[in-house]
Amino acid sequence: MELSPVCTDGISTDGCTIKSDRAQRKSKVPRDVEVDIEFLYKAVPQLNKVFRIVDKIGEGTFSSVYLGEAQMRDGRKERFALKHLIPTSHPTRIAAELQCLTVAGGKDNVMGVSYCFRKEDHVVIVMPYMEHQAIVDIISSLTFEEVRLYIYHLLKSLKHIHQFGIIHRDIKPNNFLYNRNSKMYALVDFGLAQGTADTQIELLKVDLTRLSKMQRPVFGEKNLNSCLPASSTTKQAAIMTELVKPIKTEDPASRRCSSAIRGPVAVRSQTQKPQRTVQQGLTCNCYLTDRVCNICLSRKQQVAARAGTPGFRAPEVLTKCPNQGTAIDVWSAGVILLSLLSGRYPFFKASDDLIALTQIMTIRGSRETIQAAKSFGKAVVCSKELPKQDLRTLCETLRGRRPSPGDEVTPLHGASKDAAHHPKTPDDTPTHRPTEGTLKQHESGVGQTLPNHPEHSGSKDASTLLDKQSSEVESSERGWDRVPDGAYNLLDRLMDLNPTTRITAAQALQHPLFKDL
Ligand code: ADP
Ligand code: MG
Ligand code: ZN
Repeated sequence: MELSPVCTDGISTDGCTIKSDRAQRKSKVPRDVEVDIEFLYKAVPQLNKVFRIVDKIGEGTFSSVYLGEAQMRDGRKERFALKHLIPTSHPTRIAAELQCLTVAGGKDNVMGVSYCFRKEDHVVIVMPYMEHQAIVDIISSLTFEEVRLYIYHLLKSLKHIHQFGIIHRDIKPNNFLYNRNSKMYALVDFGLAQGTADTQIELLKVDLTRLSKMQRPVFGEKNLNSCLPASSTTKQAAIMTELVKPIKTEDPASRRCSSAIRGPVAVRSQTQKPQRTVQQGLTCNCYLTDRVCNICLSRKQQVAARAGTPGFRAPEVLTKCPNQGTAIDVWSAGVILLSLLSGRYPFFKASDDLIALTQIMTIRGSRETIQAAKSFGKAVVCSKELPKQDLRTLCETLRGRRPSPGDEVTPLHGASKDAAHHPKTPDDTPTHRPTEGTLKQHESGVGQTLPNHPEHSGSKDASTLLDKQSSEVESSERGWDRVPDGAYNLLDRLMDLNPTTRITAAQALQHPLFKDL
């Protein structure tokens, strides 16, 4: 089968023989998956002539991904991933996703596309199937070398797509397939991709953020304008206030309209001093305070692309800076590296953008974050100063390689310490409370997953026993006892709060950490 993509209403059987042994399919799959597979055959009947759909391998809000087998002319059976896009996806959005795969895919760790099928509004993108492991399942057993290679290959895929002017916008482990055994890597899911100003992808030149048929909502996203009379705000006022840290015990719909909203963080555009703006004859009085007044609450949100998953979003995305570039993907790669170095996945678990921003401040420092935001025209107000963390100390502590510092040393959850400002909710409660070696990040939703630390489960035994076990201990360290400074230096450069000074993917590949690759 050739890898040249064919997008057609008809059947693309080039290289494939018709195989109609669906009846022979063993019903190993659950009943509901069987129903879904039958539905897909009905929605796109051409698939039946080419593929035996074996299983469902992914299910999201916007697509379902199936594993299909095709009998090739030479007798080989080949496996494919069939991505069935929800019929309500905007046609231009679908075409853009496909164009990213056809133009940039198939090399440098970027997934390619084999075929595309369509019947009416049902579209199925067919890709080579790549077996992969979920990061959450393997994070606790990865060696440092595996982590180094993983990040190298992720950066390689980013360099590649960025050369085409593609901003992926949803870089996270679920979209970067990793086969640990075969050392294969593939970037997938261009469903949120956008183009840079000079993108080579024609369909990314369309303003995809304004496609109306079905905007892809994002985890944790709420319609913040739902209770606001959008037409009553002036154009000038529209850029003044973007986000308000809500009180979490309140209902999301009511809190935007409540009169005394307080929270640790607020973000504003800096283009004009809010206290001088007058809207509907009223003067704002919340500038540089930790509250947001009713006047600001009634301002229209700034329109800027906000895609991806809150925990992986760059500060300029979280603050809705309108000029977002390929640097946002680099930030996300940094969050992944932080996750892998600390052994915690997900690292930041945030249900909305301001919680995500607060969590970033607990690691990167509030002063530093405020300073960076200022450089791209956003005023961030934080009710409490959060010190910047040393990345090695942070990661080694989270790995259990260092004793956990006391509260007074590491007030990581400072912003959420004040219960009156930030009441506890289930969102902020860690899924499991570790018994030892914990950091306070857990209380602000940072560093969620606690992996096993086999190398630290033993007590101080007799030296003879230690000698016996030393080789085992050595191997169980998996290289985490000698992480070079370069790893933390690269992490620092990927998670540069300022997108204009943040390292690019191309530069990162030249980093000393990868000099042998
Ligand atoms: P969505 O837009 O719904 O997130 P993705 O393109 O990210 O869709 O695919 C969802 C999941 O399906 C992926 O996380 C991955 O597990 C699986 N998947 C996607 N493409 C492939 C592929 N080519 N080979 C194997 N699995 C795939
Ligand atoms: Mg995805
Ligand atoms: Zn105000």
